[in-house]
Amino acid sequence: MTALLSNYFGGRWQAGTRGGAALFDPILGDELARVDATGLDLAAGFDYARAQGGAALRALTYRERAAMLAAIVKVLQANRDAYYDIATANSGTVKNDSAVDIDGGIFTLAMYAKLGESLGERRYLLDGEAARLGKEPLFQSQHVLVPTRGVALLINAFNFPGWGLWEKAAPALLSGVPVIVKPATATAWLAQRMARDVIEAGILPPGSLSVVCGSAAGLLDQLQPFDVVSFTGSAETAALVRSHAAVTQRSVRVNIEADSVNSALLLPGEAAGSEAFDLLAKEAAREMTVKSGQKCTAIRRIFVPQAQYGEAAEAIAARLRKVTVGNPRNESVRMGALVSRAQLQAVRAGLQHLRAQTEVLHDGATHALVDADAAVACCAGPTLLGTRDADAADRVHDTEVFGPVATLVPYRDAGHALALVRRGQGSLVASLYGSDAAALAATAIALADSHGRVHVVSPDVGALHTGHGNVMPQSLHGGPGRAGGGEELGGLRALTFYHRRSAVQASTDVLAHLYR
Ligand code: NAP
Repeated sequence: MTALLSNYFGGRWQAGTRGGAALFDPILGDELARVDATGLDLAAGFDYARAQGGAALRALTYRERAAMLAAIVKVLQANRDAYYDIATANSGTVKNDSAVDIDGGIFTLAMYAKLGESLGERRYLLDGEAARLGKEPLFQSQHVLVPTRGVALLINAFNFPGWGLWEKAAPALLSGVPVIVKPATATAWLAQRMARDVIEAGILPPGSLSVVCGSAAGLLDQLQPFDVVSFTGSAETAALVRSHAAVTQRSVRVNIEADSVNSALLLPGEAAGSEAFDLLAKEAAREMTVKSGQKCTAIRRIFVPQAQYGEAAEAIAARLRKVTVGNPRNESVRMGALVSRAQLQAVRAGLQHLRAQTEVLHDGATHALVDADAAVACCAGPTLLGTRDADAADRVHDTEVFGPVATLVPYRDAGHALALVRRGQGSLVASLYGSDAAALAATAIALADSHGRVHVVSPDVGALHTGHGNVMPQSLHGGPGRAGGGEELGGLRALTFYHRRSAVQASTDVLAHLYR
């Protein structure tokens, strides 16, 4: 049997008391490690984090906590090679895709270290200006943001074990709130190893960072009124979290990042072969294949004017044909594996579901695997589907196939395009492609109510934009409706979730002491 990964909980390393669940190499099929969280004293571990970690973190200033994040960055950078090896083995990703997770996480931490430095030697934040409460200016109201006196339970999805950990932990720790991290079982190894390196480096006060690998059973039951839970995963699990008694009865604050049927939209008036047209084709093919399409932000629906349906299909398919699929250890491979047999089966089932309402424009099954046994490896070639009846193909607007699959959708006019995009019922991101700045700006605002982020690609930024699916810490991540209704990142905005807002009503004399 392979090694059982230990949990760091209640200020010490603790192994689960059962055999646990196995983690596999999705290319070779080998068992890599096991995780188990049975037998942990959950109440004691949560109390320890709240009492020890919380008190110690709150005693520090934002600048001191920012310095700890900067120290974490150094530790992670020193161990990057080990993280890449784990990602290759456990996620089956090629180097560029592992970078999105590993270096993306380190970059996000570094950004919060820098932002935290700018907050200086304070232990709480002022929220806006003081407001006069009566005729006399002497009595005023000043809103303040203070760190919540609880613990942040961070539950993550399998596709970003590294980035998912740090994009949540960085703003929480900077806010002065201890974290308990529960990585998804399938890829828990990377998160556990990163946490282990940081814990062993002794950067954080005891109780600030705990990691529980294995089942989530019982974790939500521990949540108290001042705790928060930040969840990323499927809509089904999100519904369980949302309806848990901690949330419904104890008002535990919850942030949900769920799935999303994201769009890319070529604006009207962009001929085939124009710069905007080519940028759309390039981005669509890239988004379908990065991390084998296992990105919550990946493009799932590609909207083009009806007249360009055939040319767009050919332009995207031409790029997909060149994608080599297989073992990420082979340098010629551009796209690795899905994370598990279960995900491969889910992608196949999703494809079948969509195919009932679509035609196949590029078939992933035509990609022979490089250095991988198709009977063992969890690989799927990229598949581009298309529909000629955008209104009737409801499955295309409803179904997130979490793999290298997207559907090309033709629209009649700009109004029709917007209506079709909105059938995603709220998404993390939409990207727009065009050369008319006024039309792009108007379309971005028209879609802003139903999207956490609108990524606009015009030819002037064609070579320097950050990518439809790349989540930058400076920008909001999250989306309304189906996307979960959450908000993460967005620079210092992320800290609000981990703080409590209160209005201090007092004389200007008293309030003056808040500003010191
Ligand atoms: P999942 O099955 O919902 O699991 C997510 C996390 O929840 C895992 O850590 C899982 O642990 C845990 N969990 C399972 N049952 C739970 C319960 N009853 N209570 C509390 N936690 C529980 O999702 P996934 O398959 O890992 O991730 C894929 C999905 O996540 C996709 O739909 C994708 O769109 C979405 N996603 C969204 C974002 C975003 O930022 N919006 C980012 C990435 C992924 P176990 O692994 O141990 O079961």
